[in-house]
Parts: sequence; C-alpha cells; structure tokens
Amino acid sequence: MKIDSHAILAQVRANQAALKGCPGPHDFSVNTEPQRLGGRWRCTRCGGEVDFLARHWYQNGLVDGGKS
Ligand SMILES: [Zn+2]
Repeated sequence: MKIDSHAILAQVRANQAALKGCPGPHDFSVNTEPQRLGGRWRCTRCGGEVDFLARHWYQNGLVDGGKS
C-alpha cells in the first residue's frame, strides 16, 4: 500500500486548523481509536484530534491555569 504523504499532510493541517479555530476550551472526551495505546482523542467542540500525551498536557495546563 502506497502512503499518500500529501493526503496525510492535508489531514494534519486540517486538524491543526480545527484545533486553532476551537471556541475553547477543548473537550477531548471522544476516543476515536480505543484500540490504540493511549487512544486518540477528539474535541467535541472543534472536532480536532490529539494523541493521549497532548491531551494529558493540555488538561494539566487547564488545571494549572485555573489556579492562578
Ligand atoms: Zn477544541
């Protein structure tokens, strides 16, 4: 199977655009790939997706930001 790098790049850019355009805060509560280690998480507001590490740090940032 040939990997279409242009299509992947377009998907990545579309995802980043969605995340950037999110009215926020992100709500990464939909696991789109539960079979994958850590899963892949979709924001219910913007539809952008992140891996579990990005989700973890984002949520930690939200918690820390709420303290100040
Ligand atoms: Zn979002």
